[in-house]
Amino acid sequence: MSTSVFMEDLDAFTYRERLATGGRLVIVPVGSVEQHGPHLPLTTDVLLARAVSGRLAEALGALVAAPIVYGYKSQQRSGGGNHLGGTTSLDATTMIAIARSLTLEFARHGAERVVFLNGHFENYQFLYEGVELATTELSLRTGGGPGVEAMLVSYWDFVDDATLDEVYAGSFPGWEVEHGGVLETSLMLHLCPQLVDLGRVMDLPPAELPRYDVLPVRSELTPASGCLSSAARASKEAGRLLLERTTAALTEAIGRAFPEPSRCNDVALSEINP
Ligand SMILES: [Zn+2]
Repeated sequence: MSTSVFMEDLDAFTYRERLATGGRLVIVPVGSVEQHGPHLPLTTDVLLARAVSGRLAEALGALVAAPIVYGYKSQQRSGGGNHLGGTTSLDATTMIAIARSLTLEFARHGAERVVFLNGHFENYQFLYEGVELATTELSLRTGGGPGVEAMLVSYWDFVDDATLDEVYAGSFPGWEVEHGGVLETSLMLHLCPQLVDLGRVMDLPPAELPRYDVLPVRSELTPASGCLSSAARASKEAGRLLLERTTAALTEAIGRAFPEPSRCNDVALSEINP
């Protein structure tokens, strides 16, 4: 029997058994197919969300669902813009429908807690809407009791200030321009080094974008790299540090929001990590 925490690796019988014995907690990685400059792959957000989800699932005795690969439209002030080639996005209504459907599906499988682990800034509110619709629907079906509890998190919200100081040595440019920059590139160097080409990093100053949006997008406002800040300071060691600290903080937060799975999971954990 596979000991993998990833749903894609499991047969249906093992999946059902592990869901029942593993605290009934499912983590859904959510990414995007989005340009991340010349040095990172288009699926960077999916790869990072899935990797973080895997670490959390191992720590909590949970399962990782097959990821939501595509995400909501890239916006110029947070992801370079949806006009750039390679970036392949969903409409908001599709994103909402996917989040709603998956929450209902995992509830049908017997999950009692579903965590959406977001790796792409623009997804958040649409995931929220889909999850809100599903949890309300489930709660009505169960006569007001929570049919399923859901949690939404974007992993970078769990990077603390001390880690930022260590990684950026006082030159953190702000989350709004961290697209294809030091954070994502360092994490990728640590997790999927074969997919990073540091020789192709374009070392440009952070993007200076207005505090408003204009549509259609004025493409000249996006830096030529497609990234909003430089990845020149990225390193494997920074990636290791970021992953370790972030997953520890996230594990604690999920354990606090959903105390039961971590408390009742000694058996499941020993089965998953022999
Ligand atoms: Zn990204």
